[in-house]
Amino acid sequence: MSKPILPGATLGVLGSGQLGRMFAIAARRLGYYVHVYSPDKDTPTGQVADVEYTAAYTDHEQLAAFARGVDVVTFEFENVPSEVTDLIGKHTLVRPSGKVLNISQHRLREKTTLRQAGLPVPDFRRVTNVEELETALSELGRPAVLKTASSGYDGKGQLLIRDSISATDAWSQLSTDEAILEAFVDFECEVSVVGARNPQGDFAYYGPFRNAHWNHILDVTVCPSGLSPQIEDESIEIARTVFDALDVVGVLCVEMFVTRSGKILINELAPRPHNSGHLTIDAHTSCQFEQQVRAICGLPLASTRQLRPAAMANILGDLWAGGVPRWEKLLAIPDVHLHLYGKSDARNGRKMGHITTLQDSIGLAEQVVRAARNALLE
Ligand code: AMP
Repeated sequence: MSKPILPGATLGVLGSGQLGRMFAIAARRLGYYVHVYSPDKDTPTGQVADVEYTAAYTDHEQLAAFARGVDVVTFEFENVPSEVTDLIGKHTLVRPSGKVLNISQHRLREKTTLRQAGLPVPDFRRVTNVEELETALSELGRPAVLKTASSGYDGKGQLLIRDSISATDAWSQLSTDEAILEAFVDFECEVSVVGARNPQGDFAYYGPFRNAHWNHILDVTVCPSGLSPQIEDESIEIARTVFDALDVVGVLCVEMFVTRSGKILINELAPRPHNSGHLTIDAHTSCQFEQQVRAICGLPLASTRQLRPAAMANILGDLWAGGVPRWEKLLAIPDVHLHLYGKSDARNGRKMGHITTLQDSIGLAEQVVRAARNALLE
């Protein structure tokens, strides 16, 4: 077991968006230095990191320089090729490991690994051409969800196959070489558990969070979930089993469906903090980003006690359609916390920030957070 990486050391993060930014803020609060690496300039993470590397993920020289300058590397963006983690691993620690990344960036590998570990996933088939899609559709039935095997997120690279579309059209619309066809899950709701595990094997978790999406992008999260204690416990046990089965060191989010008959099925894994866990910054005694620092540094994990029922709403670039949002209106509402990510270009669907509120119930919290977001458009 390697020695703990103590405050004063330098942490590296691959990817430079809002997740890296909130990680860097947590790391700096704990007295660490932060270096960030991504192909972009003036990034949400770069704005708060000590050093920003702007270079391609294929630039081996820059990657090696970045890796040599830090005590451990973690991720906020997981779709990096295995060569990157292999190369970095020659110079420093990589947490979570390249193996965890490799599994979670490929839907077929992910679902196969989970199923082999005895974990519940929707029924699925591998599909590489129209004939295989036809066979898979006859086995799984319609509707079914066709997804690219790799590089899909926020609903990108996926297609709901209803009765009206032919296999040929569906296959040409997805335009990929390798896909997964999943049985359609008629879910009651979507939940997620964000877990953290250090190299000693200690485990901590937040959630389950209950998540509502809009246009395939997370819209509102509430915690506690309001689901039965049995379902909550089961989702936590599933997350714990994922961490053990994959030997995860770091933070990982397990996204799950709760079916109308009360069954839980894993949808996907994200080997990093997750949008649904953003409310932990305000609502819990420690947040998912501090936990990421502690876990990758081999430190004791923090308490994850929740202070009060909470809700989080995302602020997307769409809110800029009529001009700059009315921040002063939102900030005039008591008990509302605004987090902005330092992005200047507000495009539709782009995550620009989020709002959190703590109230006496999740119902009230959701109402307040939605009203606060509406106030931006007044
Ligand atoms: P994903 O990109 O896999 O996270 O999927 C994005 C969203 O599509 C999920 O949050 C669900 O709302 C929906 N979805 C994905 N897979 C399925 C499925 N097998 N059955 C029903 N809905 C799904």
